[in-house]
This record gives sequence, C-alpha cells and structure tokens, in this order.
Amino acid sequence: MLNPPKNKNFPLSLAIVFILVILIIISQDSASIIPILGFHGVITNQKYVNKTDQDRMHYSQKDLETFLEYLIVNDYWFLTSQDLYNILSSKNPKISQILKKRKPIMLSFDDGYKTVYTNLLPILKRLEKKYSKKVKVVLFINPGTLANKNSVDSPNLGCEELRKGLQQGFYDIQSHGLNHKDLTRLSDQRLIKEVLQSQNELRKCTHDLDPEKKVASHFAYPYGAYNPRVKKYVAKYYLSGYLYNNKLLNRNILKSYYEIPRLTVNQQESVKNLIGKFDTKFNQKTIKFLSIKEKLGKAKIKQ
Ligand SMILES: [Zn+2]
Repeated sequence: MLNPPKNKNFPLSLAIVFILVILIIISQDSASIIPILGFHGVITNQKYVNKTDQDRMHYSQKDLETFLEYLIVNDYWFLTSQDLYNILSSKNPKISQILKKRKPIMLSFDDGYKTVYTNLLPILKRLEKKYSKKVKVVLFINPGTLANKNSVDSPNLGCEELRKGLQQGFYDIQSHGLNHKDLTRLSDQRLIKEVLQSQNELRKCTHDLDPEKKVASHFAYPYGAYNPRVKKYVAKYYLSGYLYNNKLLNRNILKSYYEIPRLTVNQQESVKNLIGKFDTKFNQKTIKFLSIKEKLGKAKIKQ
C-alpha cells in the first residue's frame, strides 16, 4: 500500500532520464556537425593596403593555403554539394560512424571572382602534387555576371575558366542566381527567371563536361535572403538550398534541405580562429604544425 504512487512515477522519471541522455548524446555527437564555409575571392596580401568593405570579405591566399594544408594533413573529406545531399538524405544507420572517420567539410566560394581561378586553383594544384589529395571546392556562380571571352579587366571568372577548373576536377559549379538579386523582392516571373535561367546558362557552359547534369543542381540564395515563396521556386528546380547565416550545420536539427547553413568567412578570421569554429579537438600537434607554417611564412617575407 505504501509503494504504488512511487511505482506510478517511476516510468515517467525513467523516460525523462532517457530523453536527457539522448539530448546529451545528440548535442555531443560531433559526427552530426558538418562545417560549410562560405568564402568569396582569394587575394594576395600585398595588393590591398587600403581595404574597402569589398576587399574585407575576401580571404588571404597565404592563410587559405595554410588552412587547406591543415585540413589535408588532418585527413578531412572535401564534400561536393552532391556528397552533402547524399549524406543528408542517407538512410544508412551507420552514417554517423562513417562521418566520424571521414571528417567532412565543405568549402564554398560565392559570386565567381576571378581570383578563385588565378589565386585559388594554383594552391589546389600545388597541394595535390605535395599530398596526392584533391581538394574540391564548391563555386556558387551568377552566370549573368560572368566575364566575356576577351574581357581583361573583369573581376569575375568566365565560362572558359569554370570549364578548366571543372575538367581538372577541382570545381563543383552550382547556382547563385542569374544576377545576384535579392530574390525575396522579385515578382514571381522575375524570380523564376533568376532561378531557372541561371541553371540553364551554367549547364550550357559546361554541357559536354557534365553529362550527368551535376552542375547547377544546388542553389545558394544571394545575400542568403529567402522566404517560403523563394524556397518553393528553388525547390522546383534544385535539390538543395544554401544560406549565408554564419551557423554550423547540425544534421540532427536541420529542418529542410533548402535551409543549409554556412559559416561566413572574411579576412579578419585567422586560420586558428577558423579551425576553432568547427574542430573542438584542435590539438597540440596541429597547433605546432600551424606555428611552423607561420614562421616559415614570416621568414619568406623578410627575404
Ligand atoms: Zn553572393
């Protein structure tokens, strides 16, 4: 007669403990976090002494090389947009274990700056030679602002440069809208044009190199601006949509394939800062590696 009320409460408290344990496991499950970094252009340091806001969003070539080398040495897996889509839609119950071993990361570069060809591609080639590992980068491109064939002073890439990077296996070319318009402010008709025509033009540029139509299958909202209407039209023509909101992707709490968060990266971000954003096990060995690199960099400047 004394015990029944206690017994009645027992399953409830057990359930609460169970839920708490699950929540703790989810929040600590590092395999559920996939960092997606959003860069713009890649600049050489010396050139930009008087920095404008425009310059600040680009990243230094030297720092980027150090960062990429860190990722390669630590055996990161450089995801394409299709890789990420496959992970997110995977029904494989072992996917968390696989991800823990392979440490996924995505490096994306927006707006199609020419420096992604002139300053980034040489780094990727150099690192491939040194480590026999290919770093893949995702480019979110506005085909409406691509450079013309013979243009010398355009700050943007042209179709030919996109094709070369794709052919060499470094670029994953995806859409960022036709003309980098805030899609939430457009009429339905103009919104469809931005979304659909950007896909058509990118695929036209790469058609013979991309028989499976992997190019322009994923979309990054210009300015990260979206609403349910924009999402609806993007979902009509693309498999996934990327934001620009300085947040980490957690697979366990992602609501929609059309709201994939990205970390924003600008020039102020040191390499260590950048790594600290997603690598909680940033250990002594890797710090040592970085400081050696930094010293080497300084020595080079002195000469
Ligand atoms: Zn953009």
